[in-house]
Amino acid sequence: MISKLPNVTTSIFTVMSKMASEYGALNLSQGFPNFESDPVLIEAVSKAMKDGFNQYAPMQGDLGLRERIYEKVQTLYGKKYNPTSEITITAGATQAIFTAIAATIHKGDEVIIFAPAYDCYEPAIKLFGGVTKAIQLKPPFYTPNWGEVAQAISANTKMIIINSPHNPSGTVFSEKDMLQLQILADKHNLLVLSDEVYEHIIFDTEIHQSAARFEALSQRTFITASFGKTFHNTGWKMGYCLAPENLMKEFQKVHQYNVFCVNHPVQKGLANYLENPSRFLSIPNFYEEKRDFFLNLIKDSKFQFMPSKGTYFQLLDYSKITDESDIAFAEKLTKEFKLASIPTSVFNKNQADFKQLRVCFAKTNETLQQAAAILNNI
Ligand code: PMP
Ligand code: GLN
Repeated sequence: MISKLPNVTTSIFTVMSKMASEYGALNLSQGFPNFESDPVLIEAVSKAMKDGFNQYAPMQGDLGLRERIYEKVQTLYGKKYNPTSEITITAGATQAIFTAIAATIHKGDEVIIFAPAYDCYEPAIKLFGGVTKAIQLKPPFYTPNWGEVAQAISANTKMIIINSPHNPSGTVFSEKDMLQLQILADKHNLLVLSDEVYEHIIFDTEIHQSAARFEALSQRTFITASFGKTFHNTGWKMGYCLAPENLMKEFQKVHQYNVFCVNHPVQKGLANYLENPSRFLSIPNFYEEKRDFFLNLIKDSKFQFMPSKGTYFQLLDYSKITDESDIAFAEKLTKEFKLASIPTSVFNKNQADFKQLRVCFAKTNETLQQAAAILNNI
């Protein structure tokens, strides 16, 4: 058989989590919390099961949940997405991203991404015959250069994918960035996929500049979001997509034959939980405290860092420690020092290795203390 994705190997998250468990290492690699979701949410989901919501949900998702999303997005970003035609509930953001790409990318279309880039964009683009063009974001700030983006646009460019707050760097796109994007997308009639899974995990004085805040931009954008990230239950694989009706129609043509619909009782439970906006409004502070707790513990280590502005990831520069490659160093840290991280070069395929590891601080304070003790000893 001729492989459709000949260069794709097992994802780094699977590789590092497996290595962590084999070597009994603390797992700060794959991004997931090691504490539980709010018991109130867990109770709301079990109640939905007991109440009999155990058969297929509507294809677009539970209407109550779509209405809560409508209210949230209107309150936070001032944009009204019609719950009946512009919102679809998906199996995590991953399925939303795959579906948006499947619905729009034709053979030969070019898609601009920003490297380091989350790993699920490129394989999906390739599967549908598209070609990625990566714009490099550079340390220490990882901010986009829109001049470079403009130069990368050709007659074949179909889409730009952005991700803010950005995994793995924790950088956050500014209002100016979004306005630049809006100008370029309008000028060249491009689609945009705005991966906003960390919209609620944002720190200090940063403001999440959702594509929904920019009217012209929102008219050509799929926004993807993840409840797993927001409410500490990545294993539930629940997310959603927002898009104007013409784009959402195409999205749903793929969605209905991909999964048709997603987990019904989890949707019911989330709809109930989201009636209280403090549930998502409290998330930035919760994670900012974790970031500060962790960074304060490792401030005297040999690792150098710029505090993450968003996401639950922190990049650590280890160039004062060794000039080994990040893959070799991540392996050594896991096997010898019992701490698993993500080597960032895997998100950066054609580019230089910046000697950066990514660690996840969505962990109990006890785990963060243990991790800090290891990092301080290196
Ligand atoms: N995009 C980014 C940038 C991510 O970090 C992740 C990882 N969770 C996803 C998308 C996928 O989200 P989900 O787990 O909801 O599929
Ligand atoms: N998004 C998570 C991360 O960046 C991983 C999700 C996955 O394992 N696919 O670590």
